[in-house]
Amino acid sequence: MVTTHNLGFPRIGRKRELKFALESYWKKAISQEDLLKTARELRSRHWRDQSKLDWVPVGDFSLYDHVLDTSFLLGNVPERMRVLSGAKLDHYFRAARGRAAADDADSCRVNASEMTKWFDTNYHYIVPELDKKTRFSLHADPLLQQIADARRHGFRVKPVILGPVTYLWLGKSKDDTHKLELLDDLISVYAQLLNALKLAGCEWVQVDEPILTMELEQDWQHALRKAYYQLQTLPVKLMLTTYFGQLQNNLQLACELPVDGLHLDAVSARDEVTSVIDWLPSHKVLSLGVINGRNIWKAHLNTLLEWLEPIHRVLQDRLWLAPSCSLLHVPVDLSSEQTLDEEICSWLAFAIQKLNEIDVLAKALNHGRSSVSFQLEKNSNALNSRAQSNRVCQPAVKLRVQNISDAMGVRKSSYIERAAKQREKISLPLFPTTTIGSFPQTQTIRQARLDLRNSRLSQQAYRQLMQKEIETCIREQEVLELDVLVHGEPERNDMVEYFGEQLAGYTFTQFGWVQSYGSRCVKPPIIYGDVAHTHPISTEWIGYAQSLTRKPVKGMLTGPVTMLNWSFVRDDQPKVQTCMQLALAVRDEVHALEKAGIRIIQIDEAALREGLPLRKSQWKTYLEWAVRAFRIAANGVQDTTQIHTHMCYSEFNDIIEAIAAMDADVITIENSRSDMELLNAFDQFHYPNEIGPGVYDIHSPNIPSVDSIIDLMKKAAQRIPVERLWVNPDCGLKTRSWDEVRPALRNMVAASRYLASHLKTFRVS
Ligand code: GLN
Ligand code: ZN
Repeated sequence: MVTTHNLGFPRIGRKRELKFALESYWKKAISQEDLLKTARELRSRHWRDQSKLDWVPVGDFSLYDHVLDTSFLLGNVPERMRVLSGAKLDHYFRAARGRAAADDADSCRVNASEMTKWFDTNYHYIVPELDKKTRFSLHADPLLQQIADARRHGFRVKPVILGPVTYLWLGKSKDDTHKLELLDDLISVYAQLLNALKLAGCEWVQVDEPILTMELEQDWQHALRKAYYQLQTLPVKLMLTTYFGQLQNNLQLACELPVDGLHLDAVSARDEVTSVIDWLPSHKVLSLGVINGRNIWKAHLNTLLEWLEPIHRVLQDRLWLAPSCSLLHVPVDLSSEQTLDEEICSWLAFAIQKLNEIDVLAKALNHGRSSVSFQLEKNSNALNSRAQSNRVCQPAVKLRVQNISDAMGVRKSSYIERAAKQREKISLPLFPTTTIGSFPQTQTIRQARLDLRNSRLSQQAYRQLMQKEIETCIREQEVLELDVLVHGEPERNDMVEYFGEQLAGYTFTQFGWVQSYGSRCVKPPIIYGDVAHTHPISTEWIGYAQSLTRKPVKGMLTGPVTMLNWSFVRDDQPKVQTCMQLALAVRDEVHALEKAGIRIIQIDEAALREGLPLRKSQWKTYLEWAVRAFRIAANGVQDTTQIHTHMCYSEFNDIIEAIAAMDADVITIENSRSDMELLNAFDQFHYPNEIGPGVYDIHSPNIPSVDSIIDLMKKAAQRIPVERLWVNPDCGLKTRSWDEVRPALRNMVAASRYLASHLKTFRVS
């Protein structure tokens, strides 16, 4: 018999119950008791949702982040939190977000721990802090409590824990301690933990070691060997779990580690299944993650069965089925959707639906396909409808992509020639000032959008309101004496959703939320069909803004790679195809803006870096097509049109050449927190075009002083000729208030004027 299990379930709740409970708790609107009750209810509900499976996961739920939970489980709480007053939960939220709750008097004394992206997903984890003094100790009560709860409800429980080696890998050494020096101590605590789980009646424990899908140095491979050789004597069975990619040169290692089962992401590593079966000792269970935990499409159940049936004949009881990774990365339940197009809806599967698919597969393997013929037929009908739907395939779009030529991505002249022509057309001072696009999204703006959606406001009234906002924004910028103005993006809820809503091939959900960090969720749009530009999207707003002022207004667009990386994408064609379709759509919009007389156009590629594959060996291919997509979108313009791009990060060293190959006239980047460290990349590499390193940290309520901005820019001027420097914030100002933005930008402009007039004192030769 095939066994079924799940690696993890979304925590946030169908209607984001956890988000609302957390935020109310932080505001002190509900008590700790209330918060914990909501958490308990969500857990029981989720176990019930998974009860068709043979094993349900416990320990995957978290109030904020499962890596932070692991730190608490292992007694690795930063000392600066431990010395403060308050209960465990206060320490926990201080580590997570700097503040236990609204009236946390101690909060001003602590910095939250760092947060960073969980592998190549859009989920962010709290980075474990490690140093010489780190000592681990077991604090398993919360986990044991949850196990007891689940068992009381009658579920077969499989605890999920993050493996010791991945835990260290994800951590950050705060001094010069090599993280692996902490391994022995850590293993002994894991040994205690596994004993405790045995005592709690657990048979199997899922131990996640996703780093097995990454390029590992020998010392890390050795650490894995050491950890699992030591843990093998413990009285529980370990399911060593890998996900997010292929094992490649860790394949043999993963098969040989002395555990009782291995889980493989059989979506991204399907080609490796045969070798894994060859290498895997015959007493071990093989769990195949056959249902994609990273997208929202129905699986091809019959095709999967063709493939799985012979595997099942070989492995028999040793075969387990699961999603490829935790279902944390998909929305909870498709049946919550009320407004989604019925046909498109029939092609989709969210977490609950994905677990059903696993159940159907297992039944088909255990009792024959005829035992689930109805479900299989329904599945194949849905897939046929998707394959044949004329809403998916637009031959004209396909043809246009086929006909893309390299020449379409090449500017007419070199940067030097363009820059000269642009200077003639657009007169700008040295150290020109600009912003990244958005201005504060005030309550009035949000309310107007809501009213439009609920039909309390007519289209026309909404348009007038937005025009008023644009006018205010232009006037503010004129008073501030910024050089290149923006319209302020009041009409945009989200930079991807806004454009997606107006392109063919995109659809949107009501409740398709996916956790990004803590209580924050995103609702990625779904690209279901060939993407096409059908009408100008931004010209009306930006043209209106330009009509109000003599200063140049910069048109703002979202780039193709960011549109791709922040959406659920199609699985029926390679990503690069979808990206090229997006590139053509953005290109059309760029041309529309140019035709409307807009001289400066910014194409944001906020998420270009996020798309980098986990393995460095695959970076080149990704960067090649990502850069090509940007070039197709941006570079079909006249020499006199100035193209800007913007990126929200400051690690550039390793991709600087690709960034330069985009050939934007100006790039604005995040930087103020790194104290111009990012510009180290420019020491080795001569960046040929203009650049605006951010000088105002928009993630902080602090106002940068004129001097601090001058200092930052002087550092920049040591590496980049002053003629090619811009002065701007790190990112959009959407989340800030006008009271913060006004003085910050005033200082920015003052700093720029000072720099322009004192140019000679620090000009680099
Ligand atoms: N133009 C966008 C804004 O200013 C860019 C946002 C981003 O980079 N994430 O809001
Ligand atoms: Zn940004």
